[in-house]
Amino acid sequence: MQMNQLSSRYFIDLTQPEIAAQLKENPLVILPAGSVEQHGPHLPAGTDIYAANVISHAVAERMNGLVLPGGPLGVTPMHMPFEATITLTPDTYMRVVTETCVSTARHGAKQLLILNWHEGNSASLSIAAEDLHRQHGMTVLTVQACYVAAELYGHECGGLTHGGEIEALAVLAHRPDLVHLDRIDYSSDQQHGRTMDKLRRTRTFQPVLTDIRSIAPTGWYGHPENATIEKGLRMLNDIADAIAAEATQTFKHLDEIQQGIAEVKHLRGVG
Ligand SMILES: [Zn+2]
Repeated sequence: MQMNQLSSRYFIDLTQPEIAAQLKENPLVILPAGSVEQHGPHLPAGTDIYAANVISHAVAERMNGLVLPGGPLGVTPMHMPFEATITLTPDTYMRVVTETCVSTARHGAKQLLILNWHEGNSASLSIAAEDLHRQHGMTVLTVQACYVAAELYGHECGGLTHGGEIEALAVLAHRPDLVHLDRIDYSSDQQHGRTMDKLRRTRTFQPVLTDIRSIAPTGWYGHPENATIEKGLRMLNDIADAIAAEATQTFKHLDEIQQGIAEVKHLRGVG
């Protein structure tokens, strides 16, 4: 595939002719999904959206796509006990996601990769994804990028924890000036946090947890002390490689399957 020579893959950095040409060349858009919420004394409130943006951009470079302005906000009532949090209701969030993507579909975007770094968005995103597919004809694939990170780096980073090393690495890869490892303080108990996080990440039983303090009384837990920019860049690279490879394959499969279904429906209609 011939790649456009774009100075940036961020939609909002580009001009109209650049966007028009890019959508024509490859109608793939990537929607970063994150959140603005407290992440302890050492990480910025925008940790989740910074992570989603920088990984989306690295994936867009590999897949020749555009990164949509996902907006920084997500659904995060769980973190509202702490001041650094802004939450949308699921209804508002689904509308923002849907209307953002529909706008680009009107201009030719056909494939949508939703790249999520915030667990609280997942339920809303799956409803929006189905709507974008059924009502607006987009081929939609959602990747839970924070779980990809956990699979690739969990073993050497103490798992995926709120405010822990994996999240610190993601911000270090993008905005190291916003990471304050010298201010790490009052981590909640690791064992308790792990047990509670495990509870909400199983496929079978899913308790409703409404307050982050039931997982981490101080708002965060983990061991980000040894995070470095170099490791952050390595993690970014590995996550982007893994997502681009899997997403490319999956889009190919979806295209084959969905074209097949469209054809069968058409034939039945005629008959
Ligand atoms: Zn986070």
